[in-house]
Amino acid sequence: MYDVAVIGAGVIGTFIARELSRYKLNIVLIEKDNDVANGTTKANSAIIHAGYDAEPGTNMAKFNSKGNPMFDKICEELDVEFKRIGSLVVAFNDENMNMIKELYDRGLKNGIPNIEIINGEQVRKMEPNLNNDIVGALYAPTCGIIGPWELAIALAENAVENGVEILLNSEVHNINKTDYGYRIFTKREVIDTKYVVNCAGLYADKINNMVASPYFKIKPRRGQYFILDKSAGNFVNRVIFQCPTKLGKGVLVAPTVHGNLIIGPDAEDLNDKERLDTTADRLQYVRETALKTSKNIPFKKVITTFAGLRAEPSTGDFIVEESKEARGFINVAGIKSPGLSASPAIAEYVVELLSDINGGFEAKEDFNPIRRRMIRFEKLSADEKAELIRKDPKFGRIICRCENITEGEIVDAIRRKVGATTVDGIKKRVRPGTGRCQGGFCSPRVMEILARELGKDISEIVKDSPNSYILVGNTNKGLGEHAADELVATSIDEN
Ligand SMILES: Cc1cc2nc3c(=O)[nH]c(=O)nc-3n(C[C@H](O)[C@H](O)[C@H](O)COP(=O)(O)OP(=O)(O)OC[C@H]3O[C@@H](n4cnc5c(N)ncnc54)[C@H](O)[C@@H]3O)c2cc1C
Repeated sequence: MYDVAVIGAGVIGTFIARELSRYKLNIVLIEKDNDVANGTTKANSAIIHAGYDAEPGTNMAKFNSKGNPMFDKICEELDVEFKRIGSLVVAFNDENMNMIKELYDRGLKNGIPNIEIINGEQVRKMEPNLNNDIVGALYAPTCGIIGPWELAIALAENAVENGVEILLNSEVHNINKTDYGYRIFTKREVIDTKYVVNCAGLYADKINNMVASPYFKIKPRRGQYFILDKSAGNFVNRVIFQCPTKLGKGVLVAPTVHGNLIIGPDAEDLNDKERLDTTADRLQYVRETALKTSKNIPFKKVITTFAGLRAEPSTGDFIVEESKEARGFINVAGIKSPGLSASPAIAEYVVELLSDINGGFEAKEDFNPIRRRMIRFEKLSADEKAELIRKDPKFGRIICRCENITEGEIVDAIRRKVGATTVDGIKKRVRPGTGRCQGGFCSPRVMEILARELGKDISEIVKDSPNSYILVGNTNKGLGEHAADELVATSIDEN
């Protein structure tokens, strides 16, 4: 029997699993998809917000302001790229300036350090590419940028290294209350556990309703983005927001931690929790809105677009609490933005909650917070590269030309704990397919390496979700050992 079952391996579930692994507990992390970080954690703005935006006194404000300063240490321990580049919320008129003052006051109440209101001239000195009609801004130096899925993968890896069991392809479809706690039914397993932590993102309402009355609903709110080529990555130095609206923080222009430029999102309420398509009209809206921040944004350098779905709770705030009807069943639901920024603080709080219910947890003396460092070939010196290639010639073979990713890095991403098993799993971990050609050149090579390393036939390799097959049949029969070369490729829908 497990002590704790965590449902959902997004950034929230992986963070909680890793925090729990500090203690002498039997923990299982259950995920319906075939990889961690395939839900909302895969598609968002990737900003570690300073924390001035949320209404003081809300869970969003509390966990964001507490979470933001925790990122330096965690990212160092887990070898996740994180840059504290600061942010500006720009104002175009007096009405916007009133909002800036309101955000500043909220920031003070939320305890956000070093925020200041600056004038238009100061803005343009800091960001020469912004429009001349900007009259002022709120400057928050503690805002950061990160790779959210890389963080979740690193957390999962570190949790597993510290004893957490992870079950992928295991959709929870029912939960029964028992004398000792809960019996969870997935498509493949029956899991007995004392406590449950519900981190199922867009489906957290469905999971709650398996054991208690429906007291909240999660609605999807879609946001769409452009990603621009790395040659546009220095267009701005900081995260540039416009004033927030009722629907969210508005369209931002920001560098990504990998050196691209990200522009978006819009906000659109939907009913379908799987609608991750992008649409021409909404992208046009994002484009026109972003041009208010800077008319010089080089939209010719767009290399891809994508959409993410916020888990919008009917309560309006993060729900982080024990269910009133189910003892030891913790809902961590409605974790919309700034959920990524709040994730370390949420995880710490959930562990406290569970520990209180249990009457304390015993710390593990051998908990290891450090993850083995990633090999980032491109960032090594010439001598280091030569040494690595001497030890393993796979580091001498470039697979992704856009991002300069070697076969050695891809093999490492497969062989690590919670290793990649899909083309997008490789892309999330070591980035082939994220560059200018969007995988046009490297995807077949990545598939070959995956098939070889996993002992599978190449036709079994999927793009992302369990049934997203890429090769669907032979063009010719009877080609013997070369049959795989002749398999027909479906179109790869990048997002
Ligand atoms: C457009 C957009 C922009 C955003 N920008 C930011 C930002 O800049 N900064 C910030 O701080 N936050 C941002 N956020 C919010 C942030 O992305 C989320 O708060 C965070 O990713 C939520 O993580 P999660 O683990 O709760 O959800 P998810 O990542 O969705 O994880 C939930 C997991 O549960 C699994 N699951 C669901 N049902 C079941 C089941 N029945 N059985 C097993 N598993 C199940 C899913 O497959 C999924 O992997 C943004 C969100 C969006 C959509």
